[in-house]
Amino acid sequence: MKIAALIVAAGKGIRAGGDIPKQYRKIGDDMVLTQTLQAFIAHVDVLQTVIGEGHEPFFAEAATGMDVLEPVQGGATRQESVKAGLDALATHEPDIVLIHDAARPFVTASIISGVISALKENDGALPVTPVIDTIKQVEGGYAAATPSRETLRAAQTPQGFHFNTIFEAHERALNSGRNDFTDDSSIAEWAGVRVALTEGDARNIKITTEQDLKEANQFMKNNTSALTDIRTGNGYDVHAFEEGDAVVLCGVSVPHGKKLKGHSDADVGMHALTDAIYGALCDGDIGKHFPPSDPQWKGAASNIFLKHAMDQIRARGGVLSHCDVTLVCEEPKIGPHVEAMRNSLAKIMGIEPGRISVKATTSERLGFTGRQEGIASLATATIKLPEE
Ligand code: MG
Repeated sequence: MKIAALIVAAGKGIRAGGDIPKQYRKIGDDMVLTQTLQAFIAHVDVLQTVIGEGHEPFFAEAATGMDVLEPVQGGATRQESVKAGLDALATHEPDIVLIHDAARPFVTASIISGVISALKENDGALPVTPVIDTIKQVEGGYAAATPSRETLRAAQTPQGFHFNTIFEAHERALNSGRNDFTDDSSIAEWAGVRVALTEGDARNIKITTEQDLKEANQFMKNNTSALTDIRTGNGYDVHAFEEGDAVVLCGVSVPHGKKLKGHSDADVGMHALTDAIYGALCDGDIGKHFPPSDPQWKGAASNIFLKHAMDQIRARGGVLSHCDVTLVCEEPKIGPHVEAMRNSLAKIMGIEPGRISVKATTSERLGFTGRQEGIASLATATIKLPEE
């Protein structure tokens, strides 16, 4: 199943004040949009953002080093902006799309996976929270009616849909002259699509006012300082050489007189790194999560494993603070490719290259690596988790 996320970041953000639109303001160390993109990157195959006119430089900074599509420009209303994003995504033919407000950076892994899993049996899915306040319907400035809270829910994002279903609903809405829908569920409802309810989270706030930004900033500071459970994991992997013309190491294809033997790309560096992360999490190894005996993982690309490991850190509210990969081989020479490897890992992991080290050593022509029978790799990962 091909999963796309569409991040709606076209707002001018004037309500939050300031010179910069709110999605590009910083909370903690990063822009709001950076954190929103990071929340999705491990869950989806393609990540499309819709931005406002002239916001390209802001976007470039927010998405530095991330594996995302070129942004497209939004329209006059939220509905038109979403439509522009759906048009851009259509060429990628996703099966489902998660449509999310850029101003909700605190979306959790469990909200995202809840929506994805509800789409297995439903055409649409929407995370909601209970309504705490009693809601009043108002007429002429006076309280007119009090709907039962039992029948009310507060709608959050991401709102997920089968791609073709929501694409067609948007087309029909525009063709009917409607451009006033404020979320995608309301378009789906209007088009007769059943939208299932999933569990939202009170923390998944939409940053709207200057006060929201201040509180979000404080939350980030408290949250980061609460990551006091610091752990280190190690990983080790070996792949033998066989006939071929290039080896794939840390996501980079390096020309060589042989290739590495194994399912798919046999990326020994990425495998060691992935196992180091699982080690820090005390969560087994690649073989536990992606059994080689299961045909669906036969030939799976190594970046799927690494993304999954990163996702497990985020699901536990943690961050990867640093990792270090050592490749052990006589040939090929790794040095000229180190920067490309760091950038490649950074894109897959959704973190900056400054937290990723890649280096190489020979084994002085001793042992199997010295005899050039294969390549070994060692990796260390340091992660920070909240105290249980
Ligand atoms: Mg391996």
